[in-house]
Amino acid sequence: MTGSIPETLPASQNELQAMAYTDPLTGLGNRYRLKDKLRQLIAERSADPAPFTVGIANLDGFKPINDLFGPSAGDQILCQVAHRLKACIPDGATVIRYEGDEFAFLLPLIFERRSAEKIGMMLKEVLSAPYDLGDRNVRLSASFGFAIHPFAGEAYEDLIKSAETALYRSKRRGRGQITVYSTEIAEQMKRATQLEQALRNAIIANEVDVHFQPIVNLANDQVVGFEALARWIDKDLGFVSPSTFVPLAEERGFIDALSETLLRKAAEAALSWPKELFLSFNLSSAQLIDPSTTPNIVSIINRTGLDISRLELEITETAMMTDPDTAHRIISELRASGIRISLDDFGTGQSSLSRLRDFTFDKVKIDRAFVSRITTDSASEHIVKAIITMCEGLNLEVVAEGIEDFAEALKLKALGCGMGQGYFYGRPVDTEKTLAYLSEKYLDYEPVEASESEDA
Ligand code: C2E
Ligand code: CA
Ligand code: CA
Repeated sequence: MTGSIPETLPASQNELQAMAYTDPLTGLGNRYRLKDKLRQLIAERSADPAPFTVGIANLDGFKPINDLFGPSAGDQILCQVAHRLKACIPDGATVIRYEGDEFAFLLPLIFERRSAEKIGMMLKEVLSAPYDLGDRNVRLSASFGFAIHPFAGEAYEDLIKSAETALYRSKRRGRGQITVYSTEIAEQMKRATQLEQALRNAIIANEVDVHFQPIVNLANDQVVGFEALARWIDKDLGFVSPSTFVPLAEERGFIDALSETLLRKAAEAALSWPKELFLSFNLSSAQLIDPSTTPNIVSIINRTGLDISRLELEITETAMMTDPDTAHRIISELRASGIRISLDDFGTGQSSLSRLRDFTFDKVKIDRAFVSRITTDSASEHIVKAIITMCEGLNLEVVAEGIEDFAEALKLKALGCGMGQGYFYGRPVDTEKTLAYLSEKYLDYEPVEASESEDA
């Protein structure tokens, strides 16, 4: 018994070792192989200090395909990806399956950013050709992050971390992006993290505020409601625009906490307004893929005691794109709870007329980009006119956003636009100034409850 073991042991040890370094699905090396190779190369390059590059690729849209067509289709795609990558990487380079739908490359002869980007473009091209699943073809793209040794890190862990950071940034910028790690990118990421910490603290300390901008009936200039807009002034960073901090909260996963605070504050403020005025609140894209959105909103509104039929939620078309089915369901639930839905920034981004047919909205807000050119550019005027006519036919209310002067207001009135919003009618102001505005502008206004409207 003892005699046979020494003979078989070396072979099986080799096999075991090979197995430990191989991804069973694709036959590529796994992350241990990468670690090994990378450490080896780092050691070699300490004597010959030529740079080299590590890259990570992540397939865009792999998960939905896997969910839709099943895991065996997913496996087929991963094998085809592995095959393609192996066939096209440069001589001397290594490709491994890093994890899930992520692959990594070791590129010993790529010394600088341009070449890394070029390789990225080539790999992206190769991966974006259709995948044959027997009865159908599917397409997907890939995002890339590259890190160049030694600039992006000298040790294995640092280098991989830099490549991951670069990939993360690519993913953030959408599909099919290529990022090579640099100190500027690291700096940007660091700033975003500082901003995130400051914002998290501000939410806890109740320092994020909400301002209100009037929406008026263009026929008689009477206020019909207000849009709530988030405001945050940090003691060190100063004024930070909601266009910066709202997406950040979404990306870092705490938009719920932010939105909840804002909605509660806005609803509490609206309790003091005349009962016929609506409160319009912006919903973020992350909330349109979260099934708990409707119950959360309904419970916040019920707790504040605001009549739910006074609430409108503004959503953008782009926000609905991530997961249209879920968005559709959430919108239906919200409407069934008595909340009205406005389509925000209409005419920009991923505008599609079929969305107006397939989804049910109550109101359309024409983007400022058209309104601001309405008196100088006849194309913009025609587009606005067409939107107004179309909304009339579809029984949708219309608000023109970003009206800044009298001429624009006049033109919109002439075109039969129902409602307007913009600096011409009032800038966004805090709760107190909103009450002051109401007592000045709103003829029948008597402060509800005990709120005092002090002029500021
Ligand atoms: P938005 O929903 O399109 O809001 C309108 C933006 O246009 C606001 O910018 C408003 O201050 C500005 N605006 C209004 N009238 C005029 C005008 O006459 N001229 C010009 N130049 N601008 C005008 P703001 O407050 O900086 O908000 C930017 C964006 O941030 C909003 O765009 C919205 O997408 C987002 N946002 C703001 N507050 C919230 C919030 O509470 N929740 C969510 N999810 N997003 C918010
Ligand atoms: Ca809005
Ligand atoms: Ca808007």
